[in-house]
Amino acid sequence: MFENKDDSSTSIGSLGEFGLIDHLTKNFTIKQKSTVKGIGDDAAVISCDSKKEIVVSTDFLLEGVHFDLSYVPLKHLGYKAVVVNLSDIYAMNATPTQITVSIAVSNRFPVEALEELYAGIMAAAKIYNIDVVGGDTTSSTTGLMISVTALGTVNKGEAVYRSGAKENDLLVVTGDLGAAYMGLQVLEREKEVFKVNPNSQPDLEPYSYLVERQLKPEARKDISGLLKELEVKPTSMIDISDGLSSEIIHICKNSKVGCNLFEDKIPLDPQVISTCEEFNLDSTTIALSGGEDYELLFTIKTEDYPKIKANPHLTVIGHITDEKEGIHLISRVGTKIPLTARGWNALKNNG
Ligand code: ADP
Ligand code: MG
Repeated sequence: MFENKDDSSTSIGSLGEFGLIDHLTKNFTIKQKSTVKGIGDDAAVISCDSKKEIVVSTDFLLEGVHFDLSYVPLKHLGYKAVVVNLSDIYAMNATPTQITVSIAVSNRFPVEALEELYAGIMAAAKIYNIDVVGGDTTSSTTGLMISVTALGTVNKGEAVYRSGAKENDLLVVTGDLGAAYMGLQVLEREKEVFKVNPNSQPDLEPYSYLVERQLKPEARKDISGLLKELEVKPTSMIDISDGLSSEIIHICKNSKVGCNLFEDKIPLDPQVISTCEEFNLDSTTIALSGGEDYELLFTIKTEDYPKIKANPHLTVIGHITDEKEGIHLISRVGTKIPLTARGWNALKNNG
């Protein structure tokens, strides 16, 4: 019924993921006073009483697109499906409280497999102190699909949007970048080796941090509290699911500003550097485009710099400029390179 082979049809890939979302949703208008923020951020914000707001975010994980069960244990998958959603709640400066979990499964999966998946979901619910309050279960003819919706709360006026960055603000990132993508490269390589020689036992020890970041990511539940303690309120914030480059562009577009990102400031773990060398990949490109780090990227006022500068979790990687100056990477040798959103484009990579 939806097939349209006519020459005038537009391929989904030509719009890209963000272009497609924008195209499909641009005509929705907000009718309810309680909708504080609709489409366009890490989570929607809904006012509930005079003191609190509710944030809601949802994500889909599809077998063959977002995960490969030949090397992702189901328990890890369940854990990750929850964590990636909680990351969007933390990116609003909110605290997650509940999730719903919807799954579509084929009869290829025995009950024991789904028990494993749910053991992972339960482990995440425990660690992040949230309740699983519902969901939906249906059959699938193709593969496993998991959709998690997360809810959270934030004090009125404390939600942080993608749209609040101002000229001269500093751009700050938590943790380090690129490890999850390099973990995926290692796992993909081991899968190919295993196909040729099923008796081979991979030695993943030198890549332990990378593989853990890929298979068992964590959301930055500590940052909101840390910033409160330091008495810093970010002016804008987003989580890094698609790669640093793509997220910087989201902040800049939504805030109508430009940005200079300094290559030599991008935090990289030594395992990322050594494994990039081994795979002949450029570590900056990986940090910019790799994705799935689930770190937080935010902007702060310049005057707050002394409060964060000594903190080992936080790295200043750039500053916000006027919109007219554009969005650039300043390379190690000082050249100015325009940033492009080469982050994970699920529709292009797998279309
Ligand atoms: P994130 O990477 O933080 O999960 P997305 O890029 O998936 O964010 O989504 C950006 C915004 O678009 C969010 O507000 C999200 O709720 C909204 N969105 C994404 N897909 C759809 C859709 N199919 N219909 C309506 N809104 C959508
Ligand atoms: Mg997000």
